[in-house]
Amino acid sequence: MTCHTRQTGQLLLALATSGSIPERAVLIDYLQRRGFLGSALEGMGGDAFRVGEAFLQLITFMGCSPHIELEPPPQGGPFCYVRIDGPWSEPLLRHGRNTQAPRCCACRARITDWQGLLPVWLERTQDPIVDCPRCDHRQRPLDLGWRRTAGFGRLFIVVEDVFPGEAVPVPALLANLERTMGGPWQYFYVRD
Ligand SMILES: [Zn+2]
Repeated sequence: MTCHTRQTGQLLLALATSGSIPERAVLIDYLQRRGFLGSALEGMGGDAFRVGEAFLQLITFMGCSPHIELEPPPQGGPFCYVRIDGPWSEPLLRHGRNTQAPRCCACRARITDWQGLLPVWLERTQDPIVDCPRCDHRQRPLDLGWRRTAGFGRLFIVVEDVFPGEAVPVPALLANLERTMGGPWQYFYVRD
């Protein structure tokens, strides 16, 4: 079905804590009570939801985004909805064709050979195994900076179908998630 094709990309909100993580049902209930999530979308695997009535107050669409399709168009095609991905026992990296080489958390040098190193990083996200080619700082894969073009997480709120930079979560949403849903959440954009 064409409506499952990602035309533009995703905005992801990610929780990468090593501590306790909210259960999926707890996160869904929280997001529905805040009006971020609406009802489940039928026929999409049980993890997809309509946006809720407060969604456009919690996610700011930038610039001249003209018309945001919030319901599945009858003829198919992209529309804006939300998926809940996780929780996972270990951090996963979500990345796409827009992803840039990550940067050293100390000196901001790019780790240009990241794609070859990724399988090892994914096995040991919490271990200081990434050596910076410029300053020799040794860091955890979790500490690398991706400039909002990729990110690690154990639990993701995935907003489809969003062009990179087109939509931004408001600070109050991020602060509230941090306070009540397991710690700091970051956000970034991925294109397939
Ligand atoms: Zn460095």
